[in-house]
Amino acid sequence: MQKPNIVVLGAGYGGMMTTVNLQKKLNTHDANITLVNKHDYHYQTTWLHENAAGTLHHDRTRIQIKDVLDFSRVNFVQDSVVSIDPKQKKVKLEDGELDYDYLVVGLGFESATFGIKGLEEHAFMINNINSARLIRDHIEYNFAQYNNYKEDRPELLTIIVGGAGFTGIEFVAELANRVPELCQEYDVDPSKVRVINVEAGPTALAGFDPELVEYAMNRLEEKGVEFRLGTMIKECSPEGILVEKDDEQETIKSNNVIWAAGVRGNSIVEESGFEVNRGRVPVRDDLRTPDYDDVFVVGDCAVLFNKETERPYPPTAQIATQMGSTVATNIKLLMNGAKELESFTPDLKGTVASLGHTDAIGVVFDDKKLFGRSASIMKKVIDNRYLMQLGGPALVLKKGKLDMYH
Ligand code: FAD
Ligand code: NAD
Repeated sequence: MQKPNIVVLGAGYGGMMTTVNLQKKLNTHDANITLVNKHDYHYQTTWLHENAAGTLHHDRTRIQIKDVLDFSRVNFVQDSVVSIDPKQKKVKLEDGELDYDYLVVGLGFESATFGIKGLEEHAFMINNINSARLIRDHIEYNFAQYNNYKEDRPELLTIIVGGAGFTGIEFVAELANRVPELCQEYDVDPSKVRVINVEAGPTALAGFDPELVEYAMNRLEEKGVEFRLGTMIKECSPEGILVEKDDEQETIKSNNVIWAAGVRGNSIVEESGFEVNRGRVPVRDDLRTPDYDDVFVVGDCAVLFNKETERPYPPTAQIATQMGSTVATNIKLLMNGAKELESFTPDLKGTVASLGHTDAIGVVFDDKKLFGRSASIMKKVIDNRYLMQLGGPALVLKKGKLDMYH
């Protein structure tokens, strides 16, 4: 009998954990396992804001896939997925085509711009290693330019971050730490630099513990971050952004606009004809698509509803990682002819957001609030735990955040 082809698309949290678990659960004579990814590295999306601010080098964030997977058990294909044809069970790549018996879609997220004019063209976004590195270099270049003009050009030193969700807050926190270093390096007076966080809603981190939100905002304001709450970004242009608050419009000039105000599933999924909700497939409990028994979706390309609240679970690395483990189990069950598959229920351990290298806020184990150094240590423990799951102690030693107390 021919071995089934299992194809995993995307080496993000969901795709990597699916493949690592398949590699453990299946023998080489059971199936052909193929992982397709744009690059030969996996990256920790949860550290990209640090790469974008320049507080952590991107080489710490990327992990060579060959260092984690056994290439004698997994075929790795470095290529870009163009489209999926679930009826023909084929995946079109930029440089070829793959047939599958079981497919796992883990192509991750992209920024949602909600049709706001000019964002795609003029704003930067924290989406992957390349876009994060570009933000770091662009900001640094503007600092380098500043003293080379006769006239004052404050827009070079004005950094606007759209959105005060977790990404926006974590990013401005890194910027607040990076700006003093940049000022020193490029002979810039710190009082000339502005970091402005624009949020449409009435508060930062909507829905999070209000006491912790206040702590975070106070800490960031002390470091010079300006919050513009209840302020909607309406347009972006080469000059900056147009915002609206209480029916009043204002233009804020800036040469550094970073849009961190929402995500959606990779548009390849929608363009391939899968049923989607904000670009994300409303998966069944066993993580298969509503229409195809041989297609699983993991991570930010999937949306799963919490039955108690009837609201979608947020797209997080925590959930993507857990989905990878369930999908590997379910593929093995399907291969063994099982009729019933495992249902996925996220095991939510909490949420911790970093506020720079030594500060953070979080709620863990249902209702335990953490802030400051203890939250920061917890955040690093979470990051190291993921590396342990992915590649064991060697990967923790190589890429982990071991400098907990500095
Ligand atoms: P992703 O991590 O998005 O990876 C997708 C993979 O697919 C990438 O390797 C990419 O190269 C590849 N790919 C994409 N398109 C193609 C293509 N066409 N062809 C081939 N390969 C392709 N969540 C938390 O739980 N905790 C946190 O602390 C946290 N912090 C975050 C901080 C930031 C700055 C951001 C942006 C997000 C954060 N999140 C956090 C959310 C979390 O990162 C996402 O939910 C998670 O990355 C989703 O994982 P994923 O497996 O769906 O795919
Ligand atoms: P988000 O959707 O959570 O937040 C986006 C914010 O942008 C919202 O507050 C929204 O009101 C605001 N916004 C939207 N349109 C706007 C506009 N036109 N003008 C001004 N503000 C606008 O997105 P995110 O922060 O990128 O997070 C994405 C996912 O990643 C979430 O599930 C989040 O939980 C997860 N994440 C988790 C962590 C963590 O656990 N530490 C860190 C980062 C991201």
